[in-house]
Amino acid sequence: MFEYAPAPESRSIVSIASTYGLFIDGDFSDGKGTFKTINPASEEVLAEVAMAAPEDVDRAVAAARRAFGPWSALPGAERAKYLFRIARIIQERSRELAVLESLDNGKPIKESRDVDLPLVAAHFFYYAGWADKLRYAGFGTDPKPLGVAGQVIPWNFPLLMLAWKIAPALAAGNTVVLKPAETTPLSALFFADVCRQADLPPGVVNIITGAGDTGRYLVEHPDVDKVAFTGSTEVGRQIARSVAGTGKRLTLELGGKAANIVFDDAPIDQAVEGIVNGIFFNQGHVCCAGSRLLVQESIADELLDSLKRRMATLRVGDPLDKNTDIGAINSAAQLAKITELSEIGSSEGAERWSPPCELPDRGFWFAPTIFTGVTQAHRIAREEIFGPVLSVLTFRTPDEAIEKANNTPYGLSAGIWTEKGSRILAVADRLRAGVVWANTFNKFDPTSPFGGYKESGYGREGGRHGLEAYLA
Ligand code: NAD
Repeated sequence: MFEYAPAPESRSIVSIASTYGLFIDGDFSDGKGTFKTINPASEEVLAEVAMAAPEDVDRAVAAARRAFGPWSALPGAERAKYLFRIARIIQERSRELAVLESLDNGKPIKESRDVDLPLVAAHFFYYAGWADKLRYAGFGTDPKPLGVAGQVIPWNFPLLMLAWKIAPALAAGNTVVLKPAETTPLSALFFADVCRQADLPPGVVNIITGAGDTGRYLVEHPDVDKVAFTGSTEVGRQIARSVAGTGKRLTLELGGKAANIVFDDAPIDQAVEGIVNGIFFNQGHVCCAGSRLLVQESIADELLDSLKRRMATLRVGDPLDKNTDIGAINSAAQLAKITELSEIGSSEGAERWSPPCELPDRGFWFAPTIFTGVTQAHRIAREEIFGPVLSVLTFRTPDEAIEKANNTPYGLSAGIWTEKGSRILAVADRLRAGVVWANTFNKFDPTSPFGGYKESGYGREGGRHGLEAYLA
């Protein structure tokens, strides 16, 4: 294979301040102390960010409460203008935002540039279109906003998860206090600037930074009417317990362990591309990642040979290089978790394989990895690894594939590869997963609802369904 010359995107397009405050009531202010956010590809400190203490969360919720009256009283068409404006500013500043997202998160620039940012803008455009049509959304003739939404998001798609949360909330007339993840706060703080540029009234969007305690204080705040959380099942469970009995509305988007099922009549080359996209996109830091490959036994050898050949072409390295396929793991803690579960995979008897690949000396890296000979009993078949690690299982009949696919506490997504339309429909019907892709994987669209069954959470984000979570 020939080598590519380095093709780094310039990082000078985005200016990163050395410190950031909390964005409350349209202004930045200090918190109680700070924490550092680093570039996971180099471990370089990017900025110091304010840590929101309980009194800061109080201030943010109070600002959102004050803004709620006038914001919710605006005609939908007026709210839509702000959302359209935000969407256009995001498009205009998308190169800055893509570079910032790759620096803070470690994801390849070609993903932040070509997937995250276009989807972020599309979300705001889509929900802007709903703002003046809420009574036709199917949730009553005069649906009302809920009030103040407390929103907590993870680090894997920082700006996209922000868009999933903020766009429908504002379209429906709510105001928000959002907490980004502690390892990826910068694009949310940049978004605060976008809100100011769009002349969004102060207090409609408040961004508070901090760790788990800040998030806990926000979701437990008595003046929050609606909680929206994306993150781990463990924290989701705690939140469900704390919100129970309070009258707050709750949506949870949690973990996943999706089955990507390849039948013997599938086009192998396309399926291989789908498997690679399913598990190596975004370093596998994807809740709906196709982390369990279920392949029909009769084609398993052929498919695995093709998959290994394809994996040997994946480029791991500098996230800002336009040819990079797999960037950095988001944090040392996540790398430790991936490493530990992979070691458990080997010690439990699965066979581990990675292509030869040189990893940078500094930063957090993990080579694309597959495990074959995996059985249902293995921990790597049951637990979410949230990294570039694929567990391969085989099956003989469609019934066996469905049984294995559903044999998980999660139920977020699944994939089916076959040339038969009737089989797609029959199998999809029996899979307990919120999203089922057929002959593709990891495709997202703002018009399409997304969400889970079982321990993957409840409620839907995206589409008309996504409005329901923000309307009474
Ligand atoms: P996490 O649940 O620890 O953190 C997610 C967010 O919740 C962060 O902003 C964090 O600060 C905050 N938080 C932590 N404790 C909290 C508490 N007690 N109350 C309120 N907020 C709290 O998840 P993570 O470590 O960022 O990500 C790891 C796991 O999250 C993955 O293994 C995966 O299971 C899951 N995840 C799921 C999705 C999804 O879309 N379904 C996305 C990303 C991550």
